[in-house]
Amino acid sequence: MLRLILINKPYYLDSMFHAESLNANRLYLEKTREADNTFQKDKSEYELLLNQVKHLLSVRMNGSMKKLISSAQIRIINKGKADAFVSGRTIYFDIALLDLLLRFSKEFSVAEVKSDIYHIPEFKLMYAVALNSNKTLETLLKYETLTYSEEQQSYLWKNEVIGQEVIFNQLLGFILAHEISHMALHHEQTIQQEFPSEESRTIQNPVWNRRRREMELDADRMAAHMCLNSLIEPAQLLPWLDLTEVRRRYYGKSDEYPTSSQRIFAINQVEEMIYKDKWTGNLNALKPLPAHMNIFEGDYYAYLEEFRRVRTLRQQIVMYIDKKIAPLIYENYSPDQVATSFIKLAEGQKDIFRGAENQKTIEELQEMISSSVEASAYDPRQIKSLLQSAGIGKNGLDLLGDLLNNDQTDRELFQQYLMYLKNPVIQYYDAITYDYLLANSIARWLPEIFSTLQQQLPENEVRAKNLKPFQLDRLIRNLFPTFEQRLYVLKAWDGKY
Ligand SMILES: [Zn+2]
Repeated sequence: MLRLILINKPYYLDSMFHAESLNANRLYLEKTREADNTFQKDKSEYELLLNQVKHLLSVRMNGSMKKLISSAQIRIINKGKADAFVSGRTIYFDIALLDLLLRFSKEFSVAEVKSDIYHIPEFKLMYAVALNSNKTLETLLKYETLTYSEEQQSYLWKNEVIGQEVIFNQLLGFILAHEISHMALHHEQTIQQEFPSEESRTIQNPVWNRRRREMELDADRMAAHMCLNSLIEPAQLLPWLDLTEVRRRYYGKSDEYPTSSQRIFAINQVEEMIYKDKWTGNLNALKPLPAHMNIFEGDYYAYLEEFRRVRTLRQQIVMYIDKKIAPLIYENYSPDQVATSFIKLAEGQKDIFRGAENQKTIEELQEMISSSVEASAYDPRQIKSLLQSAGIGKNGLDLLGDLLNNDQTDRELFQQYLMYLKNPVIQYYDAITYDYLLANSIARWLPEIFSTLQQQLPENEVRAKNLKPFQLDRLIRNLFPTFEQRLYVLKAWDGKY
């Protein structure tokens, strides 16, 4: 056996990232290390993390498995490939993969705190673009909802770091468990035995493809077992699997590797089996990337642009609402009044992005405004009556009326809104969600107003209702148990799930 391995060039069992070590040049991410220092840890820090996770994975294992895990060596290499693989008794992690994971978990934790569903797709797209062309990951647009004080900044930073640790540790735990599973299941030897010639290990060989997929899914199942046995939650993998699915679709579907949905299904099965009677939680969270998101066959730059536009618009709306409700807050209006105004403004925006029923009337209005040089040359009453006959929701009408009475900037906004009334943009309408508005509003710093706002929302606004207000003395997330605490829990466990 050993002889065979020595003679043949070893086939590196991939990580779960279909890194395809045989032709890995395609995924070369050479600049990852230089791209942005803030997303990197030292090699020794990564080593410590990996070895801690490795230890946690072994604690509740039986004798032989425990031995196997402890004897497995972890080596961090720096070849610029976002890759992890097994060879013999060693698991190799490229530092580029670890950097990327860290960066991903960071973006993800920010998006979570900000309740921003557009943040993640944008990051995924940038990730695919980075892999394809310039090899660097840009930093996403900053949130500019209001000017935070230094205290507020550091509070948010603290919460991000907690989230980052949770996500990073769990992702890393699963990846490591997956690689250990390849080892425990003797996949390297299986390959040498069943496919002795290198020529047979190709995607042109359907038998090879089928066996490789099976092996990957077997490793996933075993890894899910190991993780659940070690207080690592495989459901945390979802966003990462989604991201790698984007990458997979971008590079073309390789038959050699299972799809994310297949992997999620396999992990789900394990979780269902284990938690059959006790748990009904997390399972529904495991949903694969929808089939319609086959975006990379088209123009991804256009999609990237699209996500950015929507994100920018959402930020503008938050800032607009904040600007309107801030005076009410400082003038000591009651929380009820502030909340009512907030919702009215949001509904007004929705009315506008929904579009007018009678678009001809809007066209008339646009012509009338563009033909008059001075604002004073047209009659606001005439505009209002035209607006009324255009079929716009009440809140939208009020919002437009309000803009008409104000300054020049508001009038420019007014004209912009007319455009949307004439040509509704459904993505913008969809983008105005209460979870996002509440998550990023100035109101989130004011617990009393925030909870009143949540109470006034419709019942189905579950995400928005579940948000926690920012309170400097209270963290948004619970602290995750430390390595020592987890170790203690694992050791004290009764031997059952
Ligand atoms: Zn694998």
